[in-house]
Amino acid sequence: MAQDYYQILGISKSASAEEIKRAYRKLAHQYHPDKGAGSESKFKEVSEAYQVLSDPGKRQQYDRFGTTFNQNQARGQGAQQGGFNAQGFDFNDFAQGFGGFDFDDPMDIFSNIFGGGRRPRRERGVDLEMAMDLSFDEAVFGVEKEISLEKTDACEHCSGSGAEPGSKINTCPKCHGQGQIRVTRQTILGQMSSVSTCDRCDGNGKVAERACSVCKGSGQQRRTKTIKVKIPAGVENGQRIRISKEGEVGYKGSNFGDLYLQLRVATKSGFKREGAAVFSEIPISFYQAALGTILDVPTVDGKAQVKIPAGTQSGKVFRLKGRGAPILNGSGRGDHLLTVRVVTPTKLNKKEKELFKKLSEESGESAQVDESFWDKIVG
Ligand SMILES: [Zn+2]
Ligand SMILES: [Zn+2]
Repeated sequence: MAQDYYQILGISKSASAEEIKRAYRKLAHQYHPDKGAGSESKFKEVSEAYQVLSDPGKRQQYDRFGTTFNQNQARGQGAQQGGFNAQGFDFNDFAQGFGGFDFDDPMDIFSNIFGGGRRPRRERGVDLEMAMDLSFDEAVFGVEKEISLEKTDACEHCSGSGAEPGSKINTCPKCHGQGQIRVTRQTILGQMSSVSTCDRCDGNGKVAERACSVCKGSGQQRRTKTIKVKIPAGVENGQRIRISKEGEVGYKGSNFGDLYLQLRVATKSGFKREGAAVFSEIPISFYQAALGTILDVPTVDGKAQVKIPAGTQSGKVFRLKGRGAPILNGSGRGDHLLTVRVVTPTKLNKKEKELFKKLSEESGESAQVDESFWDKIVG
């Protein structure tokens, strides 16, 4: 049966290695046979998809030669099918694996089954998330900020290796340097043996004579770290940005998680922003609207001169091209959209009243408004 590995993992054809891994981890947890809602067949399917898509060479071949790969082909003519070869992938091995491994981390099963136990454990550090406050201008033009965060980092004393500096490195006494151990046991199907990563040396085959005196061999240390982060121009409120490898440390001073910053952008009086577009309003007088004028309008980066033509109506929007916010991760800038509000005079002196009346007569409108009406309005 044709299998679409991308569909199985619920990802797009352009998914990054990181996305593939994340999707796999999630589904492997979900379908894990030990779980109530688990499904062994689904689990195998997901693992098979991951095995192919996580390997750049296999993925390329899979992308090129289509979606009709199944295990019989793989065993028989698979190798001829565009060189596709499911080497090392055997569902029988898979079945043996159940029960023998620690299923807390699906990657473990993976390394044990597909890597034949030769791949050492390499846990990835935890991703961290924190809020970051930005001013309106910082979000528009980008900023470099220093942040301090308390996290589990690589141990300073041993640089994350877990070995006391200067300590002798010996061959692992448990696996004799093999990095893996074979476990044989009786099951209802007979004697089964499986290979798993040596837990003493984590598959390295070597152990330090003395563990680091500070981190006791974990390679990890809790401390406060100050880092500089660069916020790109054009970010927006609520956006989440990833700072690669600034999360917590993973296995032995390596494999850092990522840090996510949840941006909180302050408002700025007189301005509104939507993506790269910036909005503002400007009041103009009756006379300016009727006669036309040139205005100095505040924009995100200083004043812009805007020509208001004679006869401009209230509510008219003027587009100031390229005077908005920079386009995030792009080039150029958005536009500034300026709405004009015509302000009707609220207080007229005697002379102004006369002039307005004259003006009204001039334009052919009847000025049959009596004095008492004007007085009421003017107050
Ligand atoms: Zn070992
Ligand atoms: Zn240490």
